[in-house]
Amino acid sequence: MYEKEVVRINLDENNNITSVVAKDGKALRCDAVFSTMPIKDLIAAIGEDKMSKEVYETGTNLPYRDFITVGLLLDKLKIENKTKIKTLNNIVPDNWIYVQERDVKLGRIQVFNNWSPYMVDDPEKHVWIGLEYFCNEGDEMWEAKDEDFIDMAIKELISMGIIESEKNVLDSTRIRVKKAYPAYFGAYEHFDIVENYLNSIPNLYCIGRNGQHRYNNMDHSMLCGITAVDVFLSGNPDKSSIWSVNTEKSYHEEDNKKEEK
Ligand SMILES: Cc1cc2nc3c(=O)[nH]c(=O)nc-3n(C[C@H](O)[C@H](O)[C@H](O)COP(=O)(O)OP(=O)(O)OC[C@H]3O[C@@H](n4cnc5c(N)ncnc54)[C@H](O)[C@@H]3O)c2cc1C
Repeated sequence: MYEKEVVRINLDENNNITSVVAKDGKALRCDAVFSTMPIKDLIAAIGEDKMSKEVYETGTNLPYRDFITVGLLLDKLKIENKTKIKTLNNIVPDNWIYVQERDVKLGRIQVFNNWSPYMVDDPEKHVWIGLEYFCNEGDEMWEAKDEDFIDMAIKELISMGIIESEKNVLDSTRIRVKKAYPAYFGAYEHFDIVENYLNSIPNLYCIGRNGQHRYNNMDHSMLCGITAVDVFLSGNPDKSSIWSVNTEKSYHEEDNKKEEK
């Protein structure tokens, strides 16, 4: 179902999904569902009456961290490339710069020129950076007006000496990203009961990042999809191989407690 938000999922008496229903009421019959929607929403869409209270409460209370990015088009940066790496106009060679200062809200800066010059309209003249803020939907940062937030972001950059002044900013945008990071605290402690319940729905395959409530990167998310299709085609009811993607111990915050960004 393209360009539609699924809000309800119908199951038959054998616990098989028979159809999904979009926000506009349009229903689509289905033989199987490969779900990338956040598990919190998936559980709500299946409905409280189809599962135990424990599973419903755990699933609908799964925590997330949200994210705001401010894109700034600049004529130049104040910081200089002091490395031996050669770059166009000698801009700093970093893709990401992690910000440790305690007196700013900014968490990370991306320099898009260094991902690819094709991400910038004119890399000879412009630097295109992304400022990343980690927040929670509905908090002060989330609710701030675009112009106020962008203004605050520019001031933070000036205070850190990344740019000289507001005059360096040629254009700007601000984007909010809900549920950017599935989080591993609170209700997540009992995630296994949710996973077991979802596995009891024979024609449901949970894949991807929020689809598995796991800090999956792009490669893991794609591998989940490929593995799920293999399992579906094989007719094997065991979905453990799909849930096993990206379970190497060293990768996860819950194992090494490192800050996720
Ligand atoms: C800030 C940030 C930085 C990242 N950096 C990197 C990186 O550098 N390298 C890397 O490999 N990965 C990175 N990732 C992770 C990468 O983006 C994800 O692993 C990948 O996009 C997950 O793919 P996905 O298909 O599971 O989810 P998505 O790409 O989020 O796709 C999910 C899809 O499901 C749809 N959907 C959700 N709910 C519903 C619904 N109710 N009805 C219908 N459709 C719905 C959404 O609209 C969306 O199209 C980053 C992620 C974030 C948030």
